[in-house]
Amino acid sequence: MKYQPTIGLEIHTILKTRTKMFCDSLNDLEEKEPNKNTCPVCLGHPGVLPTINKQAVEYVVRVGLALGGKIAEVSKFDRKNYFYPDLPKGYQISQYDQPIVLGGELLNVRIRRVHLEEDAGRLLHELANEPTSQRATYVDFNRAGVPLMELVTEPDIRSAEQALEFARELQRILRYLGVSDADMEKGQMRVEANVSLDMGPKAELKNINSFKAVGSAIAYELERQKGVLERGDKVEYETRGWDDMKQKTFSQRSKEEAHDYRYFPEPDLPPFEPAKIFDLETMRNELPELPAAKRTRFAQELKLTEPQAAMLVDNKTLADFFEAAVSELAARDELKTSAVEKEPRNLLFNYLTSDLIGLAAASGAAFEHTKVKPERLAHLVDLIADGKIGSRQAKDILKKMFETGEDPETIMQAEGLETVSDTGEIEEAVREVIAENPKAAEDYKKGKEASLQFLVGQAMRKLKGRGDPEQLRDLFKQELKG
Ligand code: ADP
Ligand code: MG
Repeated sequence: MKYQPTIGLEIHTILKTRTKMFCDSLNDLEEKEPNKNTCPVCLGHPGVLPTINKQAVEYVVRVGLALGGKIAEVSKFDRKNYFYPDLPKGYQISQYDQPIVLGGELLNVRIRRVHLEEDAGRLLHELANEPTSQRATYVDFNRAGVPLMELVTEPDIRSAEQALEFARELQRILRYLGVSDADMEKGQMRVEANVSLDMGPKAELKNINSFKAVGSAIAYELERQKGVLERGDKVEYETRGWDDMKQKTFSQRSKEEAHDYRYFPEPDLPPFEPAKIFDLETMRNELPELPAAKRTRFAQELKLTEPQAAMLVDNKTLADFFEAAVSELAARDELKTSAVEKEPRNLLFNYLTSDLIGLAAASGAAFEHTKVKPERLAHLVDLIADGKIGSRQAKDILKKMFETGEDPETIMQAEGLETVSDTGEIEEAVREVIAENPKAAEDYKKGKEASLQFLVGQAMRKLKGRGDPEQLRDLFKQELKG
């Protein structure tokens, strides 16, 4: 693009605490009954006092440590005043000039700050066939007061793709840290993008409700601003909404109408010193391995390609499963005298990421709940690598394992799926196939390679799929040479 795009993100995440930010009403986003998880504090009754949810503060500190930010020596809450029906107090408790975290970095994008605030309730607009003036709007305060973490980046992002990758990586990190499920579709993670060209006035994009929309909204807005500049007009400094149906941004309000929030320190909550409440050094040491480090280690140590590593690390349960299965495979290999011929790690990757995940997806259950233990998947792969079963048998056995959780060897024996190792039986099958298919045998002798494949296939049928294709291939070659 001939203009230089500048993008900065503001990302809100609902933290996975048991109770709300300033009271002990439950933080349960699954609650269907409206206004069930409420109390005088989160309903904004006069005269009540908020108390700080320590778990929420700890989560933000954890995020700050993971992103290499500086944990504030003294942090405090402030009131951000504005009126809206989903905000019964008339102000939101947020943090203004002393956020919990300052600085940090992720994917070469500088983090400006990470702070803590409370979420608002939800408005439900009635969609009746009534004139607008007669439609009711309902308010559900179950979400009012749940802890919301806001992360603000510096305007270091240069493209829609980079913004999307940042948001995805942040989601992975938040999940690895266990602070949020950060599901955009459920509104647990909300991304706002500030977009400008050539450092001109920026548009702040709101209502982006999926990862896909993060990319599309920014890409659309960059094109729109480019069009404005090329017409010789000026880009407005404004807030724009993303219309997912029309795949367009639209003007919501200009910054001339910008709020004056009259921030002032929350008088009901004392400033606090994170280092006095938490042992920051211990917290830093106890951070889990983060996705970037895990991807590098998986690629190097576990000898995976980068896309393979990325695919596993995307889901921590999957990554842990793979790692446990790999160590089981290694343990099994050590017990053997003969070297394993095939590449069992790749087999493991394939059986895990396509077959097992496929079975889980088809059954509608989350992979997290699979009955198949990593050790048993490794065992299955070991049976394949040892030539005890072929891929068809492996798939049948895995299906059974998925249903019962049983170990593959038991299933193999019970179902008689073991590859035939009786040489006599195999040689007989080969001779029979040659006798029954003289033309194919002749063709192969004359140099037609495809005929060998056909003969192997016939022998496999005779052996009910329990033959070893490599071995059959060798036998046919021997029988038919010269
Ligand atoms: P404002 O208060 O005017 O909305 P801030 O300086 O508070 O602006 O920044 C809010 C967000 O906008 C941050 O994520 C920041 O990175 C981003 N931002 C700041 N300047 C620009 C710009 N020129 N273009 C795009 N994003 C910007
Ligand atoms: Mg701002």
